[in-house]
Formats: sequence, structure tokens, C-alpha cells
Amino acid sequence: MINLEKIYIDSKAYLKGHFLLSSGKHSEYYLQSAKVLENPKTAELLAFNLAKMIKKSGIHVETVCSPALGGLLAGYELARSLGVRFIFAERVKNIMTIKRGFEIKKNEKILMCEDIITTGGSVLEAASQVEKQGGKIVAFAALANRGFCKREGGNNEINHTCKLPKNIPFFALGDFEFDVYDKENCPLCLNGSKAFKHGSREN
Ligand code: ZN
Repeated sequence: MINLEKIYIDSKAYLKGHFLLSSGKHSEYYLQSAKVLENPKTAELLAFNLAKMIKKSGIHVETVCSPALGGLLAGYELARSLGVRFIFAERVKNIMTIKRGFEIKKNEKILMCEDIITTGGSVLEAASQVEKQGGKIVAFAALANRGFCKREGGNNEINHTCKLPKNIPFFALGDFEFDVYDKENCPLCLNGSKAFKHGSREN
């Protein structure tokens, strides 16, 4: 079994400090999956292990679909490992859209993949577009779960902010659970340090 936390730390993708997240919240930790995936061998290894879990579950997947931009690399590598095709959804004027000539057959079995699933908002928006075009969502997957949703085999309690449907399995290689704070009661701010904005989105 791979040690996801070690891989993120070694890739400088799991940072400790005082961060201002895109949600406006403050956090002592920051995840940047792009830093893990900049090494194709690491991406391949993670996707291989994720694919193994999905194959073991017996769920049949015909296509992997990711929301751009964050999910693209993880989704593409997962599709390669599963031996299926890969498509993506992207925001056009802030609406998640499937374009570029991608076609979805009626009842095509589609797995939705992200790099990290926090509440699952973006991936669910993409999933609803897939369903509109006739696809059937058979699973969700991510390299890591932020601990708000419950992955297959995970131990955490599901949080009410999780948007993923409970009747569809969610696969991830591990959990990254850490607190986020409102500015007013951030213990790091109370200690006199200043929050730093890292990247444009928290994942
Ligand atoms: Zn703070």
C-alpha cells in the first residue's frame, strides 16, 4: 500500500504554514496536487493503485471524466490505468460544460475523477452535465479525500457539507483531514501571524 501523505510531503505538495484558502477560510495546511503530478512516474503509481481499488470493487467503467483544470492529470492517468477513454468538462462563463466534440452514449458507465475531493462541488457539477447527455455515473474517485466525504474503506464521519450522492461509491487513496478556520477565530491569526494566499484555489 502506498503512503499518500509521504508522497505529498516529499513532493512539497502538503505545505505547513498559514494559508488563506479560496473559500476565504484560513488553514495551517495547504495541498497542491499539481506538485505531486508534475512527476509522471508518481502520477502513474497513484493512478495504478486507485485503478486497482476500482477494479477490485467489480464496478465496470467505460469512461473517466474529470472537471478541468484540477482533475485532468489524475483523471487521464486513471483512465490509462483502467484502459478506458478519458473526457473532461470545463467551465464556460462559470458553467460546467462538456464540449470539444466529446460524445457520451446513452447509459455509458462513467467514473468522475478529481485530484482532491473536498465537498465534491465541481465534480458533481460535471457529473450532472454527463447525466444530461445520457451518461450514468458509476463511481467517484480522487487521489485524496479531504475528510468531508466518506471514501470506500475510510474511517471518518461524513460531514453535512459533502455534496456527493451517498448511493454512489467514492474511491480515494487516503484522507487529508485538517481544520480550516474563519478569520475571526483562526488560532494562527490570534498568534499574530498573517495568512498567505497560495495559488488561486484551495485544491
Ligand atoms: Zn489566520
